Amino acid sequence: MEELYHFIDGKRVKGTSGRFADVMNPATGEVQARVPLASVEEMAAAVASAAEAQVAWGATNPQRRARVMMKFGALINEHMDELAELVSREHGKTLPDGRGDVQRGLEVVEVCMGGPSLLKGEFTDDGGPGIDLYSMRQPLGVVAGITPFNFPAMIPLWKMAPALTCGNAMILKPSERCPSTALRLAELLQEAGLPDGVLQIVNGDKEAVDAILDDETIQAVGFVGSTPIAQYIYGRAANNGKRTQCFGGAKNHMIIMPDADLDKAADALVGAGFGAAGERCMAISVAVPVGKETADGLRDRLVPRIEKLKVGPYTANEDVDYGPVITAASKARIEGLIDSGVDQGAELVVDGRGFSLQGYENGFFVGPSYFDNVTPDMEIYKEEIFGPVLSQVRTETYEEALKLTMDNPYGNGTAIFTADGDTARDFAHRVNVGMVGINFPIPVPLSYHTFGGWKKSAFGDLNQYGPDAFRFYTKTKTVTARWFSGIKEGGEFNFKAMD
Ligand code: NAD
Repeated sequence: MEELYHFIDGKRVKGTSGRFADVMNPATGEVQARVPLASVEEMAAAVASAAEAQVAWGATNPQRRARVMMKFGALINEHMDELAELVSREHGKTLPDGRGDVQRGLEVVEVCMGGPSLLKGEFTDDGGPGIDLYSMRQPLGVVAGITPFNFPAMIPLWKMAPALTCGNAMILKPSERCPSTALRLAELLQEAGLPDGVLQIVNGDKEAVDAILDDETIQAVGFVGSTPIAQYIYGRAANNGKRTQCFGGAKNHMIIMPDADLDKAADALVGAGFGAAGERCMAISVAVPVGKETADGLRDRLVPRIEKLKVGPYTANEDVDYGPVITAASKARIEGLIDSGVDQGAELVVDGRGFSLQGYENGFFVGPSYFDNVTPDMEIYKEEIFGPVLSQVRTETYEEALKLTMDNPYGNGTAIFTADGDTARDFAHRVNVGMVGINFPIPVPLSYHTFGGWKKSAFGDLNQYGPDAFRFYTKTKTVTARWFSGIKEGGEFNFKAMD
């Protein structure tokens, strides 16, 4: 069986802890590789050499660092199919979706190619007599990224590209379920000219994460994953004095107004609810039609579309709409939640339980499920299911639909489908959610904006990528400078305004 490795100081390095995690092929249920889980000592060694490498990298001028991103971007394009296949092999998502995973990460690399303009400081000429002020953005030193399984290329790229462009060294701990893409990206970065040691891929589980959180050299932690772990990491890292941003789970609502084009809304819901088997933090998991006619019309349109969905392995390429979920445990949890929805009185209109695919009987496939008449007290509404399950909550008015969305503890993404600009504008203005789509179901912002949720979907401040990432990965130093123009006598002892 293939044994994976860490990527440390520019080399593939075997694990020495003696602990491993299985990397599954979710389509077949077979173990396809094992990944080493780093010990505290392995982490400490990787951090120490990253700290050494960071000194020269941080002193390399920003334009030269950006040139590494230019070559890196070209290499990602060149290796697009290989990277997409790595994503799909371990995650199970379809190949076109695997390509999308790489592409949305590449777009962040593209913004980093222009990184120097985001690293410019500020200058005040003549802030006082003969006094100038300037501020500069300097790297933090060694920073860490901890990433989830569901975007094995995109989220590591969201972390590494801005952190490195800002002159930091990074310890990246990818998900132990899908580690290979990050390992390959590190090799491509090396080929692009990144000095050895500046990016260390250290594989691991809680032990490695805790080592990051307690390490005194690491200055900042960027995390993406589930809400309970996000909250834990935020608390521990911040308590240890680190700059910390942790992005968590979601329960994204899409409101469908009576004036919406229901065919377009149904198409959007099927893609946003079931794409990538619902394993997206921006998946729409709750449809909120306003009015009985809208709800009935939407349901009539959704059912045939959902029943037509093709579920299968990524090797079937364009012939599948979505693949398996990540583990057997995840499949069991999703099916258990569907059972609970039935027990608690929701109407299961399309039942995806017990799905089996010939030749892939041991794969972690879950058919698409669609519930109507879901109420907010049910488990299927309260939990982030992270599977191919769409719940429909019926409402009578726009205000009721808006309140439902706002009362939900998560606030990652949301959408409204309507033909009325006034309603759309009111929704975008009032809703307490970080990313809003208007007639657009998955509003992941482009890479020169920023990505981040509100409420329990994010802890800490500043968003991911875009200008916020350049703020997160640098600290500001402000210099007040005076050059004497004549011979002055005596000292000044008062804390004075610069008049
Ligand atoms: P997860 O929280 O299980 O794991 C994320 C990372 O944390 C992994 O690297 C994992 O090794 C580590 N980890 C897991 N348990 C830990 C523990 N007890 N202590 C320390 N570290 C631990 O998340 P996942 O299942 O890999 O990813 C799915 C989740 O991520 C979903 O909730 C999804 O909504 C969320 N997500 C959020 C965003 C966002 O930007 N808000 C994006 C993608 C995914």
